[in-house]
Amino acid sequence: MNRFEYARPETLAAAVALLEEYGSEARLLAGGTDLVIELRNHWVEPKIVIDLKRIPELAPAIVEGNGILSITASTVMADIVANEQVQRYFPALAEAADVVGSVQIRARATLAGNICNGSPAADCAPPLLVYDAVVVVAGPAGIRRLPVDDFIVGPGKTALADNELVTAIELPIPDRAYGSAYQRLTRRRGTDLASITLCCGVGPDGVTRLAYGSVGPRAFLVTDESGALADPNIGIEDKAELLDGMFHLATPSIRSMRASPAYRLAMLRVLGARALETAIERLVKEVA
Ligand SMILES: Cc1cc2nc3c(=O)[nH]c(=O)nc-3n(C[C@H](O)[C@H](O)[C@H](O)COP(=O)(O)OP(=O)(O)OC[C@H]3O[C@@H](n4cnc5c(N)ncnc54)[C@H](O)[C@@H]3O)c2cc1C
Repeated sequence: MNRFEYARPETLAAAVALLEEYGSEARLLAGGTDLVIELRNHWVEPKIVIDLKRIPELAPAIVEGNGILSITASTVMADIVANEQVQRYFPALAEAADVVGSVQIRARATLAGNICNGSPAADCAPPLLVYDAVVVVAGPAGIRRLPVDDFIVGPGKTALADNELVTAIELPIPDRAYGSAYQRLTRRRGTDLASITLCCGVGPDGVTRLAYGSVGPRAFLVTDESGALADPNIGIEDKAELLDGMFHLATPSIRSMRASPAYRLAMLRVLGARALETAIERLVKEVA
């Protein structure tokens, strides 16, 4: 690890001022489960590491208000898994947070860090896409809100400017029944990232949303508005062709050490079918 300065600002304004001063030579520290590895391996060599954990506005909290569930930037996976509102309204996010790393990792790793790291394999990206999450960003000009689909850019890249940081992630609470489910494939749970991440959401209007990651430069969201995928009276075998078409954005790399492109594409279909069936079951149960 190289030498760097360490700052622990006590206000959001002080953190933004440090980002203004150091620009691309600063790195933010939340749980550190990604950052510490990057520092140790010399993948990043910042002049300063800015610890976010003393900033009151970012302190761990999951708050419901005005039809939105807001998850602050320092909230860790373990708290998301245990939260009743997340379980009730956003079960696929609870499922994704619950498979991130190990117990120890989930006690440190934040939801904000998961998407700010920009990994195509980030487990929470697909559910956030399906649920239309909004990322709240603070910078010198104040607060701006970005749909998570615009926030996620590519491997290691987000829409954040050097002088900005994430303060919270907002999830619009569905105003009617909604079925959703998360699926992922990994070689070794707890120590390896996912070979496939996938979330499916089904609404009573028949619109089906699928988001998948680890099979391209970022997690993608695709939507089927025909109603055929969501129809509980059509068997999964008869949906296979339509479901296959939903994976047209998947371009798994031939260079990946985790799985071959052919295996990933085959498993994408399997996980897609499983998540769709579970999402429909949950929707039917909610409507009943
Ligand atoms: C053993 C191990 C297993 C893992 N398994 C998984 C897994 O199964 N699934 C998975 O998705 N990930 C996994 N990870 C990766 C990691 O745990 C997650 O991505 C985690 O959510 C990162 O959160 P953090 O709070 O630790 O982020 P940090 O390491 O603190 O930060 C990560 C990046 O985001 C930036 N950042 C953090 N917070 C903010 C903010 N508020 N605003 C702007 N930028 C910010 C940091 O500057 C840094 O670049 C694993 C890591 C390890 C070490």
